[in-house]
Amino acid sequence: MMDLAHHPVFEGQPSDDYLERWRQHTATTGRPEDFECVSTSRPTQHDNIVLLSEEITVPVLLRPGGERVPCSFCAPGSPKFIRGRMAYFPDEKTVRFVGHQCAATHYGENFRHAERLFRRQQACRDYFDTWQEIGARREALAQFVARMAKIAADLQFVRDQLDEQAKGYCEFLQRELAQTNGELFIDADLGMKDRTGNAVIQRKSIGRASGLKFLAYGYDVKRDVRHLQTALTDAAQPLPDWSPTTPEHPATDEILKRGRMVARAMRSMLATLASIDDGQRFFARKNLLLLHRWGNRPNTPFARFEISVDGRQVLFRSDSFAGLHYANVVVPEGTHTALPPANDPDVVFIERKVA
Ligand SMILES: [Zn+2]
Repeated sequence: MMDLAHHPVFEGQPSDDYLERWRQHTATTGRPEDFECVSTSRPTQHDNIVLLSEEITVPVLLRPGGERVPCSFCAPGSPKFIRGRMAYFPDEKTVRFVGHQCAATHYGENFRHAERLFRRQQACRDYFDTWQEIGARREALAQFVARMAKIAADLQFVRDQLDEQAKGYCEFLQRELAQTNGELFIDADLGMKDRTGNAVIQRKSIGRASGLKFLAYGYDVKRDVRHLQTALTDAAQPLPDWSPTTPEHPATDEILKRGRMVARAMRSMLATLASIDDGQRFFARKNLLLLHRWGNRPNTPFARFEISVDGRQVLFRSDSFAGLHYANVVVPEGTHTALPPANDPDVVFIERKVA
């Protein structure tokens, strides 16, 4: 059996730079266990383990004979596994490359705890990276959000009028439209009679209505845009000093909290754009006319239905099992301003980054 290495030299968690070099060494040699200061001895204390990497598949074909990596737990010095993780043993001040299965078995609940802490450290690293990427695109992102903000405010102004004047109308219309995912069907009389003398009626589509998002319960693009603005403001403030340490660095909670908020907002940029776009499409003249045409056909939920446009005023009238609804709302000119493109490269980049 080969001599087992034991290097009790790590007073604290090894630096990311050390880990990166270890990773490189493993990738190029297939021998994670013979990097500088890596121990191959059997661990003597089983209370504490700190995970330093995700699961790494070792390119064992680079090893003499393509043999597997030895396991310091159950078979020090003998070939055992291919997939493993870098780990730190703070009580012993050592680091090892350990087989995933074996470490999980030996450390049980402590391993799961270590896994959780590892993910928290990874998230912090990711958020520092996110902050940097946002910083590099700050101007473009701010402009994108600013372009949405005015239109969102105008649309929300219209939606609020509708809710105030015709409570429940939007949700009611939305539910009706959602049954066919917006597709508008009418009964068309083909002008023929069947054998029993009844008119032949055919159900046909006259098109698809836009506005299912705009009409949905809780639509609030003004709030959505405000979240984006808040996130960009926060991302302009640096994160606190931090480094991956054991025990966990005290700034971790703050970084995770701010990071999650900013990441969530960045993930919603294009969804917010789509919600605003949907509102614009709802108020497109053609869409309103189509809805009006549909609502006035037989076999719709409406005894009476009207949508009419007069300059900036749009009138909604509906008589249905959901009651009488009437609203005459102002649609500001700005509602129809062109939105920024959904393929804005900076926005797409950041969304992918935090996905
Ligand atoms: Zn083992």
